Amino acid sequence: MTQSKRPSVIAGNWKMYKTIDESLEFVKEFIPLVAESPATVFLSVPYTSIHAAAEAAKGSNVVIGAQNMNDATEGAFTGEIAGRMLVDAGAKFVILGHSERRHVFNETDEFINKKVKRALSDGIVPIVCIGETLEERDAGKTHDILKSQITHSLDAVTHDELPNILIAYEPVWAIGTGKTATPELAQEVHAFCREYITKLWGEESAEKVVIMYGGSVKPDNARQLMDKKDIDGLLVGGASLSPESFSQIVNYQNALTH
Ligand code: PEP
Repeated sequence: MTQSKRPSVIAGNWKMYKTIDESLEFVKEFIPLVAESPATVFLSVPYTSIHAAAEAAKGSNVVIGAQNMNDATEGAFTGEIAGRMLVDAGAKFVILGHSERRHVFNETDEFINKKVKRALSDGIVPIVCIGETLEERDAGKTHDILKSQITHSLDAVTHDELPNILIAYEPVWAIGTGKTATPELAQEVHAFCREYITKLWGEESAEKVVIMYGGSVKPDNARQLMDKKDIDGLLVGGASLSPESFSQIVNYQNALTH
């Protein structure tokens, strides 16, 4: 395995699943299963579960976060939630620009960028998702799409701020479809993104930024993905809903290599 200077971050994204009781049941079962993991373990839960899950995870290596936020600090935005409210509830990080937000709720890079800036000023770590659709990949536009998403969603982010942001490369065609990008394909894209980030922010910042992969990660492909040089973490949807499968992903180093 290639040694990285960057931390390994394994994050679960529960999407719109689990009540408070179900979340607590998960957290209690999950914590002992990942207690020995050298990876940083993130769990992105529904808003209603943040406070209870954060309390239950206190003193463990499991960090609780949210799945979205608004760019305003407060105001007349019915149904929205502010970063400072998430922090108040116990969230330490927030997923921004997930493909479901981009494609189902029509979020633009410009809006995502405002949220990124707000998250940084609110003291909550943003995980910024980028990724191409199948049509874009088939049309040979993957690199252009990623360049554009990085440029616009991270606009005006400073050198000092960049290492406080995590980037998740999530090809839209691999999310919830069972089609994982091969470790080689994911590595190629991650290396491309790091090279582009180097152009924009310089090598020192680019070497520090954590780039995670997401898209149908399962216990049996986590290790091969994590063994790649530029893959520093995983963002896991479906397989993070069960303590058993998610803990196996977190403990990927115990998996046999093929
Ligand atoms: C996700 O929701 O970010 C995701 C990658 O989902 P899945 O692992 O189910 O493909």
